[in-house]
Amino acid sequence: MKKRTKIVATVGPSTHSEDIIKNMILEGVNVFRINFSHGSHEDHIKAINKIRKVDKTLGTHSALLADLQGPKIRIGEMPEEGVLLEKNSAFTLYTNDKKSIENAAFVSYDRLAKDVKKDEFILLDDGKIHLKVTETNGKDIIKTKVIAGGILYSRKGVNLPNTKISTSSLTEKDKNDLKVALEQGVDWVGFSFVRSAREIIELRHLITSMNGDAKIIAKIEKPEAVEDLDNIMQETDAVMVARGDLGVEIPLENVPLIQKRIAEMAKEMAKPVIIATQMMESMMDNITPNRAEVNDVANAVMDGVDAVMLSGETSVGKHPVEVIKIMARIINEIEGKYTELYVKETMPKKNNDRFITDSICFNACRLAQRVNAKAIITMTHSGYTSYKISSQRPESAIYVFSSNKKLLSTLSLVWGVATFYYDKTISTDHTIADIHHLLKSEKLVESGDLIINTASIPLGEGGKTNMLKLSYIE
Ligand code: PGA
Ligand code: MN
Repeated sequence: MKKRTKIVATVGPSTHSEDIIKNMILEGVNVFRINFSHGSHEDHIKAINKIRKVDKTLGTHSALLADLQGPKIRIGEMPEEGVLLEKNSAFTLYTNDKKSIENAAFVSYDRLAKDVKKDEFILLDDGKIHLKVTETNGKDIIKTKVIAGGILYSRKGVNLPNTKISTSSLTEKDKNDLKVALEQGVDWVGFSFVRSAREIIELRHLITSMNGDAKIIAKIEKPEAVEDLDNIMQETDAVMVARGDLGVEIPLENVPLIQKRIAEMAKEMAKPVIIATQMMESMMDNITPNRAEVNDVANAVMDGVDAVMLSGETSVGKHPVEVIKIMARIINEIEGKYTELYVKETMPKKNNDRFITDSICFNACRLAQRVNAKAIITMTHSGYTSYKISSQRPESAIYVFSSNKKLLSTLSLVWGVATFYYDKTISTDHTIADIHHLLKSEKLVESGDLIINTASIPLGEGGKTNMLKLSYIE
């Protein structure tokens, strides 16, 4: 069986050729992430076209994730060799275009001087450099004291862990990028630095107003988002543990338990969860990962997350294909031996308008475990049953048949789900027989295998899933 945990890989200069993309898919990439923090719209569209072309030749349905930059704050241009910030010295940040200040750097957030307060911390370059605010003029100049020093280079990230940011998390750039992403028909949109459930609702309105149908991934990387996690999880379609910024915005030792908590919540709510950042960081240069990275990927797989993500490792790293190969090896090893991973039962809730469907999905997984079924097959237009069945993490394969082409790629992010296009609606009996035949000819099942089918009867009336069938492959 194919690996169940999905791999998200970020595209960039290192994935420039169709050949590389093809090999990445063959080695196990399920989702390509287009990072709107870097590159031009033209670059992104080119990358998307290449992925679609390769998908067509391979018959795969890679999902596309457009990751919006959000209010990522950056340092401006510095001298090429950087500037040394010495501990206990004074350093100024400014938000206008004045370049004549000594010992200073430009910051790309024009409300910085208004939003920060004395004694708050400003962290630079992934938290490597710590500044403490000593004075702000409330307009454009912030004086600080260097608490932890280092060399500051151009365009490094700025994090404000103590500061309440007063602007929306969706910038003008994000809105323009979103438009392009939706025109390209991406499946998922990553919402960076989201702070509240309300902002998710706003993004959803925006997507609808642009006639888009992409689903939302809430990137948890702000302390406010951790605080509003319950509500954010209700509103979002999927979630990413964005450990890079999260580990700077909150104490880094808090990240592991938050990762576990988000993974548990996501599975219970049947929403996909991605673990992101530095999973195989050392493979940016090296041909093998370090041991801690192997353990990190393995632990995420053991936690039953939907996907593990690669950023720089594939976008600018030296080994974009090799890193997928090794990641897939780790995933396969754990999935083959760690049986605790499978069957997480979440009882369907009564008094819920999906109670019948939820009960079918729940019992499909129970039955599959009891009889050791080879596969659970679901026919769906909305995808609802796929998320539900997947969230129980059955050991049996999950095959999803749908005439909704968009769904085939969207579901590529979801744990254990493999999708197939199917649009015949003769009768339920005919469809089930036909699908069994199809899976047999693809060598995914063989004579004598026990198979579970879920469906909605009567067929073709767009009803909700209400049927469960157990049968042998002839
Ligand atoms: P980014 O998000 O790579 O877009 O910053 C992921 C993270 O912060 O971990
Ligand atoms: Mn981030």
